[in-house]
Amino acid sequence: MSFPISFEFFPTKTPEGAAKHVQVRKNLYARKPQFCSVTYGAGGSTQAGTFNMVRDIQSEGVSAASHFSCVGATHDKVRAELQELKAMGVRRIVALRGDLPSGYGLGGEFQYASDLVEFIRREFGDWFHIEVAAYPEVHPQAKSPHSDLEAFAAKVRAGADSAITQYFYNADAYCRFVDAARGMGLDAPVVPGIMPITSSTQLMRFSDACGAEIPRWIRLRLQAYGDDTASIRAFGLDVVSRLCEQLRSQGAPGLHFYTMNQSVATLEICDRLGL
Ligand SMILES: Cc1cc2nc3c(=O)[nH]c(=O)nc-3n(C[C@H](O)[C@H](O)[C@H](O)COP(=O)(O)OP(=O)(O)OC[C@H]3O[C@@H](n4cnc5c(N)ncnc54)[C@H](O)[C@@H]3O)c2cc1C
Repeated sequence: MSFPISFEFFPTKTPEGAAKHVQVRKNLYARKPQFCSVTYGAGGSTQAGTFNMVRDIQSEGVSAASHFSCVGATHDKVRAELQELKAMGVRRIVALRGDLPSGYGLGGEFQYASDLVEFIRREFGDWFHIEVAAYPEVHPQAKSPHSDLEAFAAKVRAGADSAITQYFYNADAYCRFVDAARGMGLDAPVVPGIMPITSSTQLMRFSDACGAEIPRWIRLRLQAYGDDTASIRAFGLDVVSRLCEQLRSQGAPGLHFYTMNQSVATLEICDRLGL
C-alpha cells in the first residue's frame, strides 16, 4: 500500500475563490490522498462554508473529513450538524475544541475536545472515524507539557481513532511526543501536520498565533532572504522535504499537509518524496 497522505483546506470566501479551488483540488487528487479535510470556524469562516466544500469533495469521489469545533456549542446544535454530515455520507471528523475570539467566555455545553469525542461516540457509535489534534510542542494554553499529554490521552480514551499534529519543524519534538504517548499505553496513530514554507511573514504570523516554534536558524535564513520569494520557496522546499523524510524514516504513519488552499508547494514536496 502507498504511504498515506492527506490534504487540509479552508472554506473559500468568494465564488471566484471557490472556482479557483476546484483546480487546486484536482491537482492534489492526482496524489491519491487518503482524505481531504476542511477546517471549521477557523479565521471566522462559517459552518456553511465548511459543509459546502465537504460536499464538493465527496461529490468529486474523494473521502472528505470535516473539522468540527465544539467551543460555545450546545448538544442539540452539534447533534444536528453531525446528523447533516452523516446524511452527506461523511465518515471522518477532526474533533476539536476550537478557539473563541478573545473577549468571549467559553460557555456552551462542551469544555474540551474530549467532551466532543465522547459525545460523538455516544450518539453516533462507530459511524465516524474520529481524528483529534496533538501538539508535539505543547498547546499554548496548556498548564504544562504533562497536562497537555493527559489532555491528549483523554481524547484517545474517549474514543478518538487517530491524531493529526500541529505543524512543527523539529522532528525530535514529534518523536518524543509519540514515545510519551506510547509510554502511556496510547497506540492511536499520530500523523504529523506539515506546513510548507512559502512566505516568511505568513509563517511567522501563524506560528506566533498557534504556538508552533520556528527554529532560530530557519527564522534567520528566512529574514535574510527579505522579499526574495524564489529563494524562500526553494529553501522552504528543502527544509520541509527533509523534515518529511526524517519523519517517514522514524516511523510516522502518514503525512497531513496544511495546503493553505494552494497546490504547488505541497506537490513539490510530494515530488521530492516520491509520493
Ligand atoms: C490538526 C489540527 C486541526 C485544527 N483545525 C481547526 C479548525 O478547523 N478550526 C479551528 O477553529 N481550530 C482548529 N485547530 C486549532 C484548535 O482548535 C486550537 O488549537 C484549540 O485551541 C484547541 O483545540 P483542541 O481540540 O486541541 O482542544 P483540547 O484538546 O480540548 O485542548 C485545549 C486546551 O485545553 C487543555 N485541556 C484539555 N483537556 C483538559 C482538561 N481535562 N483539564 C485541563 N486542561 C485541559 C489542553 O492541554 C489544551 O491546552 C486545529 C488544530 C490542529 C492541530
